[in-house]
Amino acid sequence: MRLERQSLKLLTEAIERLEDGFSNLPEIRQDLDLDRMRNVILEVAERMQDNFPYFHPYYAGQMLKPPHPVARLAYALSLWINPNNHALDGGRASSQMEKEAVSQIAEMFGWRTCLGHLCGGGTMANLEALWVSGRLKPGKKILASEQAHYTHRRITEVLGLSFESVACDRQARMDVKALERILRRQEVGTVVATIGTTATGSVDPLSDIVKLQAEYGFRIHADAAYGGYFVLADNLDAETRKAFDCLGGVDSIAIDPHKHGLQPYGCGCILFNDPAVGSLYKHDSPYTYFSSKELHLGEISLECSRAGASAVALWATLRFMPLSRQGEFAEGLAKSRRSAVRLFEKISSDSRFMIPFAPELDIVVWAPSEESASAISRRSREIFSELEKEDIHLAIADLPEALLTNTWPHIKWDQARVTCLRSCLMKPEHLDWVDSIWEKILGVL
Ligand SMILES: *Cc1c(COP(=O)(O)O)cnc(C)c1O
Repeated sequence: MRLERQSLKLLTEAIERLEDGFSNLPEIRQDLDLDRMRNVILEVAERMQDNFPYFHPYYAGQMLKPPHPVARLAYALSLWINPNNHALDGGRASSQMEKEAVSQIAEMFGWRTCLGHLCGGGTMANLEALWVSGRLKPGKKILASEQAHYTHRRITEVLGLSFESVACDRQARMDVKALERILRRQEVGTVVATIGTTATGSVDPLSDIVKLQAEYGFRIHADAAYGGYFVLADNLDAETRKAFDCLGGVDSIAIDPHKHGLQPYGCGCILFNDPAVGSLYKHDSPYTYFSSKELHLGEISLECSRAGASAVALWATLRFMPLSRQGEFAEGLAKSRRSAVRLFEKISSDSRFMIPFAPELDIVVWAPSEESASAISRRSREIFSELEKEDIHLAIADLPEALLTNTWPHIKWDQARVTCLRSCLMKPEHLDWVDSIWEKILGVL
């Protein structure tokens, strides 16, 4: 079997249980044209065959994987109600489940009294964080590293804030010296620390950034959309761990349950350390309103209608696999990281490849050994396409010359960027498959 369906029989049982809660209502006649639906839905199944196999360990490319079966079932089950978490009237149970799930995520960072909610994804979460930053530090700049997600620059354009990017060090992390040079100009309101960059999984040196905050007084927003959950992993390198251990001290955190939290798309999360920022969302409400038990999530969110299903799926997943440092969920993350380390060791001991730095999380970036940026790029694309024919799906990443020039001094930079190979080993099962993926890579050389 390639696509899981053992769990489906639980869905019928659960729908019956859900219906028990409404047995006081008169029955509704249901006349479905099942034959016509069947035709359509089988056509959908055929259309959906046109996809990369994100669910399979042979897919080791972009940040894509299926949700946990329990998330999928809970999401589907909730669609028989279709709650809207904008207001309590639209989804009483799912709003409560959202509050509980968000508190568990917050507790993972040691936060007990924060303000937070789910949202459409990392882009929305970052947008809310930078919107709050702009309100609290009007006229001041937002900084993020050159390897930060491109969304930050675009969000600041939407919000009418000014933005500047900070150079990176050799590990694609924010260069603290470059940061301090900008801070001296006294124009900075917020520094975005990326906790797991999208291209390479690099973690900005948060402990140094926190130290600079004491001197320069800016806000810190952690974009942990990809990497946030790795706070639970027990096998990070010491420096990476140090950054994660500082997360509790930042002002806001964006984290994507739909990336490493085993959720269907449409599930991001924003957390603010100081619940008083809630007052920014609604001018005519005193802050006490927001801390009341009857909080409508729509009062602390920029989005209005939101899928209650996302909250239900997340709640179910956390119930099944709590966010503890010892549990099954943490072990899954540790396995992804072990897969990346294993692939890194294989690549770095083979002279046919070059690897710029060791992975900090579960993303590995490497390149075929060639003499020029153009030759590396060409060969990377060839390997990428050859592997695709073998059903192995990697990704490619374009990195700038400035990032690699000291690491690869022998390379002729005949173009400003170089295309490398990239793998997100996001699935715990990758650990059992990384050797066969490596064999396939060697097979196409
Ligand atoms: C994915 C990602 C984002 C954007 O999040 P979406 O969920 O795709 O909207 C922002 N920052 C980082 C670091 C990411 O990895």
